[in-house]
Amino acid sequence: MNVENSNFYDQEYEELGAVLHSWGEPSYRLDQIWSGVYQRLKDDPAGLSNVPKSLRIELAKHFTFSNLLSETTINSKDNQTSKSLFRLADDQAIETVLMRYKKRRTLCISTQAGCALGCVFCATGQMGFRRNLTSGEILEQVIFFERILRQAGESLTNVVVMGMGEPLQNYENTMAAIGRLNHPKGLKMGARRFTVSTVGLVPQIIRFAREQKQVNLAVSLHAADDELRSSILPVNKKYPLGDLMDACRQYVDLTHRRISFEWALIHDVNDSLEQAMKLAGLLKGLLCHVNIIPLNPTQGYAGSATTRERAKNFQAVLETKGIPCTIRVRRGIEIQAGCGQLVTDD
Ligand code: SAH
Ligand code: SF4
Repeated sequence: MNVENSNFYDQEYEELGAVLHSWGEPSYRLDQIWSGVYQRLKDDPAGLSNVPKSLRIELAKHFTFSNLLSETTINSKDNQTSKSLFRLADDQAIETVLMRYKKRRTLCISTQAGCALGCVFCATGQMGFRRNLTSGEILEQVIFFERILRQAGESLTNVVVMGMGEPLQNYENTMAAIGRLNHPKGLKMGARRFTVSTVGLVPQIIRFAREQKQVNLAVSLHAADDELRSSILPVNKKYPLGDLMDACRQYVDLTHRRISFEWALIHDVNDSLEQAMKLAGLLKGLLCHVNIIPLNPTQGYAGSATTRERAKNFQAVLETKGIPCTIRVRRGIEIQAGCGQLVTDD
């Protein structure tokens, strides 16, 4: 087994067990190491005080433990939002955003460097696709911030997979990362505290539904007819609304879980009462919730956010049709940490 210099966080529990076995270690070492890394959040085998020094040296020789190099962190003026840029081993970069709201500590994590899907108003889409993150790179974002919060006596309450990239296009690694954070011998973060957001990849939504994950699902809708949706989300040409809504209905039927729909309100593009009526029609009878958020500005898109009044009117249409709808407060806009604003330049 070649594990030379591999990322520790990419290993499944069982895989690490097999490595330790091949080194002739007693089986209880696995739990000692796993709890040191995933419960006590040690970022260096030197800190694993419960295992012999020779094994700590061996671990350090075979695995890398700090794979996210934190390059910059910027805080919003109210200090409630902070955005970190991490450099990866191959020089790619990603961004992760921590949002504090009352007792909530929500981390928004990335699953890809860039994104291939080209939604016109999204800064990540505007930069194009670089590569998928490994499961270890995805989950280490959570470990990194959990470690920081613990120093202040706090802990993450939620993780939203809504940073850079399309998580369902990196399905295996995203689910493996969540699984490892959820592992009973590790951090034990409940699956229900995770929300995965997708632009609407139909086969993967159906797979996700069949796998009966306890993880929450959000679908980025943004338009209620194919013509408009295809003009802002090119992926709609491949997976049109009819197919997408069928997949969403299958998800709710199979999991009995509520689905969230995201809608970025763009002035004079998708904020009309006609769109709201069409949306209400699409969602009729479906166990769901709509999150509307005024568009965040990005360099490559000329559209602007809707007004407060039009957002309220849009919400009112949905509510009179019995569809729960929340207008989200925009956070971290001045530090480009809002939805769709994550981008790395080089
Ligand atoms: N790729 C996934 C998750 C990452 S994007 C997805 O598309 O769902 C996270 C959310 O930000 C999505 O709902 C996306 O549509 C939204 N978003 C992208 N650009 C935005 C912008 N400029 N303003 C507001 N929301 C935006
Ligand atoms: Fe990719 Fe999501 Fe941005 Fe679309 S909105 S380009 S799917 S990250």
